Amino acid sequence: MASHDPTWSSAAGSPTGNGHDNPPAENEMARVILASISEAVIATDAAGCISTINAEAEHLTGWSRQQAIGLPLGDVFRLVDLDNRGPIECPATVAIRENRAFRFETDALLVARDGREFIVEASAAPIRGEAAEPLGAVLICRDVSDNRHLQRCIAWQAGHDALTHLPNRNLLTDRLRQAMAQAQRQRTLLAVCYLDLDGFKPINDRYGHEIGDRVLVSVAERLTALIRGSDTVARIGGDEFVLLLTGAEAPTDFHPVLERLLAEVAAPYHVDSRQLTVTASIGVAICPLDDSDPDTILRHADQAMYYAKQTGRNRYQLFDSEYDRKLGRHREEIVRIRQALKEQEFRLYFQPKVNIRTGKVIGAEALIRWLHPERGLVPLGEFLPVIANTDVTESLDTWVINEVLRQMSAWSAQGFTLPISVNISPDNLQRAEFVDQLAASLAAHADVAPSLLELEVIESAAIDDLGHIRHVIEACHRLGVTFSLDDFGTGYSCLANLRRLPVDGLKIDQSFIRDMLDDSNDLAIVEGVIGLAQVFQSHVIAEGVETTEHAIMLMRLGCDIVQGFGIARPMPAEELPDWVRQFKPDPKWSLWADTHWELTDFPLLVAQYDHIRWVKQLVMAIDQPLGRLDANEITDRHACRFGHWYDHHGRLHYGDLPEFTDIDTTHNRIHEVGTRMLRLHGKGQTEAARLLSAELLRLKDQILEQLHQLQSAVTRRHVDQR
Ligand code: C2E
Ligand code: MG
Ligand code: MG
Repeated sequence: MASHDPTWSSAAGSPTGNGHDNPPAENEMARVILASISEAVIATDAAGCISTINAEAEHLTGWSRQQAIGLPLGDVFRLVDLDNRGPIECPATVAIRENRAFRFETDALLVARDGREFIVEASAAPIRGEAAEPLGAVLICRDVSDNRHLQRCIAWQAGHDALTHLPNRNLLTDRLRQAMAQAQRQRTLLAVCYLDLDGFKPINDRYGHEIGDRVLVSVAERLTALIRGSDTVARIGGDEFVLLLTGAEAPTDFHPVLERLLAEVAAPYHVDSRQLTVTASIGVAICPLDDSDPDTILRHADQAMYYAKQTGRNRYQLFDSEYDRKLGRHREEIVRIRQALKEQEFRLYFQPKVNIRTGKVIGAEALIRWLHPERGLVPLGEFLPVIANTDVTESLDTWVINEVLRQMSAWSAQGFTLPISVNISPDNLQRAEFVDQLAASLAAHADVAPSLLELEVIESAAIDDLGHIRHVIEACHRLGVTFSLDDFGTGYSCLANLRRLPVDGLKIDQSFIRDMLDDSNDLAIVEGVIGLAQVFQSHVIAEGVETTEHAIMLMRLGCDIVQGFGIARPMPAEELPDWVRQFKPDPKWSLWADTHWELTDFPLLVAQYDHIRWVKQLVMAIDQPLGRLDANEITDRHACRFGHWYDHHGRLHYGDLPEFTDIDTTHNRIHEVGTRMLRLHGKGQTEAARLLSAELLRLKDQILEQLHQLQSAVTRRHVDQR
């Protein structure tokens, strides 16, 4: 078609000036051919005006044959540059001018009359007369839009993640190389940040991939919104992203944006009607401070991320070679712990739980111990944190559950039965398979009643994901297993949330128990938890009970079940049956076992501890400054906390009892002694002051005895009133 072909002139129905007439059949044939070929064909005369245009060309240009014939080609066939949309010369014009065939090397954009745009390949050839003189040109053009879109799409997909539309690992590798070169050139710093989501897997497991995907898309949007146009966010795996932050002068310049990234990712996600949370652990390697190759830099950022996860999650960690070594050690420790599981170096110890009101052993808690062949007993604090957030936790918990069931089954064969509680690590509970595995373990020990097994999980873990934990508890209940919240009081649970958890028991954290007799705040918390348990109709247990006094106080407050060194230390399995058989309750417990206190009497129980503390502080003050005690609290018996109770709550409730009135004289005397001690102390006569403290302690015992009498009188009165 590139050479002169007389059919053009006749087909167009307009003279091209060659003077030949073709037979009508031939003309008709040419018209049919032109109409049916898929390329657009336009012929022009020597002046560049259109003489022929076929149907496809009419379609692409938006001009009909009638409109187009005779118009300059440039008016009908408007080509622009694909990238910058600048006008480009029509190939037909070039073909006429240069009298040669011409085609574009690259695609061009054809803009139709109505604004539609097509990506086209176009070429043109001159039409020559018999003397090779130019008579016009023929332009052939093909719409390649679909093709090119497809190609572009494939190219885009090769470099992008289909879900989030972020660059993928391929494109990231290019961008990383470019960014590193640029940082070198501009003498700036580049932060390569490896970001991995914390808590994403449970969302995927629990709510399905569709919800998981929506969280990932939101994360991608949040990350993209935070970075500058010159920076990059890429998604390189399930819940793994890499950010390239450019243009800083000092490593600390990156801290604000890293903080913002953490905060942004941690903000709640609302998917359907659910509120979900994930956090991010970020590892950062900074180039060119770290002048390794791109692969190594990414690996360093990944390692730093791993470290951030191990040390608490929801944080970022800069890579440095020191913790690289630590990380190495950490990995070795994990390997060692895995091996310990395989080599059966773990043992379970059992600590009894006792109901002090009835004097009965009601169960025991299984506590893990590591008997290292060289190091001996390894403290829990040295290995439980090491495996936190790793799959070893899961293996360990599974081992504990199976071992407890095996032990219970062995005991049962010896005629010994006792409910046992097991500690479950919080991340294990998050796993979708947890309940199924528990069911399988129970099924494998059919001779053990599931109701004898109780799971303990720390309170803070439970409130992390209330909805899920509720399902786990309900599923455990269906299996017959009970559930209690451990270390209760440390997790700052909101009451409204707790109400939604069908737990069977609350275990008051030992830190409150330890100080409850000295610290009225702790005592108030203990009392509060006991009240809470009554409202929720769950049982309450106190752990870390070390003295009889603690036990009695707990019982008087309404917590009858206790566990602690005061009763027994954790012991090997083989010692437990004998211990239980030989167990004798402390006779002092039964003294108060029949009494139940009214809530209004609570300050009476607390008063004695206020007094004990006052005496302690005064005795200690002989050698030191007065501390928290002010002089007025010593000289004035109405100014100390005990005096305050006596004058107000005490007088109001017990003012009519002789046991109450008796106390005043002793209290007065003890303040006289205290005042004398204060004076001697002021004059520097420390020895003389110290001698008086014996008298002080004697009077304290007397007050405690009198308080004891008063408490007995009060309980008698309650009984009479009933
Ligand atoms: P926990 O479940 O709150 O267990 C009570 C801890 O307090 C035990 O420490 C126990 O030995 C200790 N304890 C008991 N009575 C007293 C007392 O009167 N005074 C004092 N000062 N301490 C007392 P242990 O065995 O070192 O365990 C510490 C924590 O490690 C446990 O706290 C539990 O959270 C975890 N743990 C223990 N065994 C396991 C296990 O088998 N699996 C899992 N996942 N965690 C475990
Ligand atoms: Mg526990
Ligand atoms: Mg505990």
